[in-house]
Amino acid sequence: MQREEALEKIAWHHLKKLTRDEAADLIIEFFNEPLKPSLREKLNITTLVQWETHQPPDDLQPGNPIYRPVLIDKMKRPFRGATNEYLAQYLREMVGIQVDHIEGKLPGWLACPVCGYLTFETLGAWDTCPVCGWNSDPVQETMHDDPTGANGISLNEARRNYQTFGAVSKEKLAMLDPEDKKKYPK
Ligand SMILES: [Zn+2]
Repeated sequence: MQREEALEKIAWHHLKKLTRDEAADLIIEFFNEPLKPSLREKLNITTLVQWETHQPPDDLQPGNPIYRPVLIDKMKRPFRGATNEYLAQYLREMVGIQVDHIEGKLPGWLACPVCGYLTFETLGAWDTCPVCGWNSDPVQETMHDDPTGANGISLNEARRNYQTFGAVSKEKLAMLDPEDKKKYPK
């Protein structure tokens, strides 16, 4: 199976489990986010106009198929950087689809400066690494001993903490999903 097809199947599996309120929240979140070109081309004009005004309609119907590409995209997001082996195993164990292996190139994400896993689509954009909890701060990633910034501790201290107990801080450790260590390549 190709990687894109695997992501599509995983996304549908999660889409079916969404409650009406969860779907509505995700659509409202989408109205306030930048729009990726790859998603833009899948949307119809009504959805695009709603996105441009950043306002959901008063009678938002999350089940309306015009929002399906938005929801599918959201469901794929946590799996986009996953290895082919992880996707195959996830399909077998969580979705119940028998698949031997998955083919296709990974998206070429960047290594986290703390844990080294390829968890970042871009660095320095204040995204959080799902493996170690590092928040990608462009200043802290230039000045490795500077504790001022998004993380409250320096990059070097975060690295020491990761070596000691597996996360940038004890507080972050409690928020991380240990599964994510198996998900991303190194
Ligand atoms: Zn990390």
